[in-house]
Amino acid sequence: MTTPPFATGTDKTVPDLDLIVREIAEEMRARPDRGEVASYIPELARADPTAFGIAVADADGHVAVGGDADVPFSIQSISKVFTLTLALGKVGDRLWKRVGREPSGSAFNSIVQLEAENGIPRNPFINAGAIAVTDVILSGHQPKEVLGEILRFMRFLADDPSISMDDAVAASEQRTGFRNRSLANYMKAFDVLENPVDYTLGVYFHHCALAMSCRQLALAGRFLAHGGRNPATGLSVVSPERARRINAIMMTCGHYDGSGEFAYRVGLPGKSGVGGGILAIAPRKASIAVWSPGLDASGNSHLGRIALEMLTQRLGWSVFG
Ligand code: GLU
Repeated sequence: MTTPPFATGTDKTVPDLDLIVREIAEEMRARPDRGEVASYIPELARADPTAFGIAVADADGHVAVGGDADVPFSIQSISKVFTLTLALGKVGDRLWKRVGREPSGSAFNSIVQLEAENGIPRNPFINAGAIAVTDVILSGHQPKEVLGEILRFMRFLADDPSISMDDAVAASEQRTGFRNRSLANYMKAFDVLENPVDYTLGVYFHHCALAMSCRQLALAGRFLAHGGRNPATGLSVVSPERARRINAIMMTCGHYDGSGEFAYRVGLPGKSGVGGGILAIAPRKASIAVWSPGLDASGNSHLGRIALEMLTQRLGWSVFG
């Protein structure tokens, strides 16, 4: 009788997850092709292009790690998964009046679609959509209160009080984020934003500047892999239905106009950030974080995507069967 590899995600008699993860980290470290580190936010250009980290948090609470898994990096757009979770918690399905749920097929910071679609962003993961989601969680609060809430949420999910926001990265984007400022002003003109543009953008730039390691990020994503519940504490974060729906949006919109390619190659819901991180979810099995700062042409981590493809192929993990 053969045991399918990681059929349950909890069976320790099947291939050694720790070994596979370490091997992938070694292979990634040796590769010459690393992509281009983002430089449009000057502070991000300081990232070490040779860095590579991976962490896989399984259903048993075990975290398999490889490479620079404990080095904090700028999670950037991966934060949009967590702000979407908070906004849905605050206003529920009313959120979908302010932002759509369709893949954009455009660059992450594209402005053309906004004009054609009356200032309603295509989805919560393109920049315009994430700014609209940030505006929803800001309403009724001061920016500082909301930033405190986001930070507490991340620390709670990862069970790690050391997580922080990198003020230098936020200030760097604040100085250079003219494009995001245009998107926000454009949406304000259509009354899609309720708060002063500078307040909304200040919160947006700061949550993008959350600094987390692969280990912390994989731990923070566990609720999405386990029906909305943190398997370590048993505490429910969102309903199973909401977890499924957030995963669906990650699958269709999580990699901008590289989302189709990511689904084809990796087969899991995922969200990337221009800091070079990717959070991927293997439902009922694991929450996975990878990080390598060099990006491909769509702005997604080049080696991060390759590492996830290797991992899912070796383990037979895919939401497509
Ligand atoms: N803060 C970045 C921006 O708004 C996030 C982009 C990303 O990670 O894809 O440009």
